[in-house]
Amino acid sequence: MQYMDNKLQGVNRNNSTDLPAKIKNRITVSIPRDTFSEVKYIEHLKFKVHIKNMYKDICNKINLQEQITPKLKFESLGAHAAGGFSNIDGKIYFDDNFLKQLEDSDIVFVIRHELEHVKQFHEILRLLGLKKFVKLMVSKNENCPEEKIVNSEKVNINYYKKVEQMLGKIDPNSPEGILAQKYIDAYKKYPDLMKLWQRTDICKVKKILIFIKELICNYKFNFLETSANKAAKNFLKTFKV
Ligand SMILES: [Zn+2]
Repeated sequence: MQYMDNKLQGVNRNNSTDLPAKIKNRITVSIPRDTFSEVKYIEHLKFKVHIKNMYKDICNKINLQEQITPKLKFESLGAHAAGGFSNIDGKIYFDDNFLKQLEDSDIVFVIRHELEHVKQFHEILRLLGLKKFVKLMVSKNENCPEEKIVNSEKVNINYYKKVEQMLGKIDPNSPEGILAQKYIDAYKKYPDLMKLWQRTDICKVKKILIFIKELICNYKFNFLETSANKAAKNFLKTFKV
């Protein structure tokens, strides 16, 4: 499951990544790369370096150790998503073409928001331990019987092992443990909006109604989301950009 943050929906996304694959291929093949497009290409590379530097800087400011900082990947995410943390592969994804249209302060907000999701899943892991954590990630049930677990090989075990080693366990009765349990409860309710949108077994009207309900009840006001937004807001207040 990926976190898709559909923040900043009003941003204009008229960029080449929205073109259908066929057209995109044709354009790439038929137009020789002239000086102008090379300049644009270099500018875009510079922008990606700028994002990477911002990401590194924010990780430092929130004391996220380098060894357990998720790898940053650039990908076109679609669905008005600026970024997402994949709790399965332990990587952070940003849509560079989307971010390019935002102010630096908004980019900082998006990065800090995703990093809070990273912290949330670290806390869940520290409370449950690796085995139960993997079960929860795969089936949303940490007590799921072994034989019912599917796709557990997709979970980035090496990453989470390192997190467990570096951060250690937390006591279920401690304030951190109680907070981690709240994250677990919220995660169980967290909707897979992408999967829902791709459903073909129900009629379109019904699908849209379920989608809106899930979006409002279980996504927008989900504790994982509200606390990530709060962390990003507080971060912006502390560190002016
Ligand atoms: Zn989020």
